[in-house]
Amino acid sequence: MDNDKKGLLFVISGPSGVGKGTICKKLLERRKELKLSVSVTTRAPRPGEIEGVNYFFRSEEQFQDMIARDEFLEYMCVFGKNHYGTPKAYVAEQRAQGNDVILEIDVNGALNVKKRCPDAVMIFIAPPSMETLKKRLVGRGTETEEAVERRFAEAVKELAAAGEYDYIVVNDSLDKAVKDTESILVSERLHVSNNPKLINILKGE
Ligand code: ADP
Ligand code: 5GP
Repeated sequence: MDNDKKGLLFVISGPSGVGKGTICKKLLERRKELKLSVSVTTRAPRPGEIEGVNYFFRSEEQFQDMIARDEFLEYMCVFGKNHYGTPKAYVAEQRAQGNDVILEIDVNGALNVKKRCPDAVMIFIAPPSMETLKKRLVGRGTETEEAVERRFAEAVKELAAAGEYDYIVVNDSLDKAVKDTESILVSERLHVSNNPKLINILKGE
């Protein structure tokens, strides 16, 4: 029996340093039908980051041109400093081909996606404690002290938005957080509302 093939849209967000990137990487290794939307950013690449894999790195001017051409599903000035945006063409193409797409984005951007795509599945990744969040942000070693403080202050506001999401996953043990997130992906795929063709076949239509 044929299954429905329209790809689902999963939005994974939560404060900086909570482990979104780490969880998404593991999910992508485990589920080949999942595609990660690569965002555009005006921030400088970190050591080891690859153009087109981690981000599309663009100048502020190039980013503004993309806004003018209406190329973003959503975009944000994150931490009052750099711009980040989700190119909409890739998301639409992948979903049309039946691939599920993950957006790993900040909380404000996520809430905007929900407005534009009400069928998006919203997953909030929460830290086990604020102390752990700070340790992870510092431990990652990618931010200056000032950037850690800015991201941490933003985190307090972001946590207050968790109630706007469909699911919440606490990233304490990484293995458990990956399994919990994967089970959300699997359940959504099996949900009757995401299988109308199959339901019609079963009805004999
Ligand atoms: P985000 O993408 O949300 O900013 P990262 O995925 O970069 O966060 O994770 C931040 C840091 O925390 C990284 O150094 C990562 O290895 C570490 N980390 C992520 N999840 C866990 C976990 N469950 N336990 C311990 N360390 C973790
Ligand atoms: P980082 O600089 O650590 O890679 O990312 C900073 C924050 O920007 C993270 O919370 C990340 O999820 C978010 N982010 C990355 N890409 C996008 C995007 O396309 N849109 C929005 N709104 N946020 C993004």
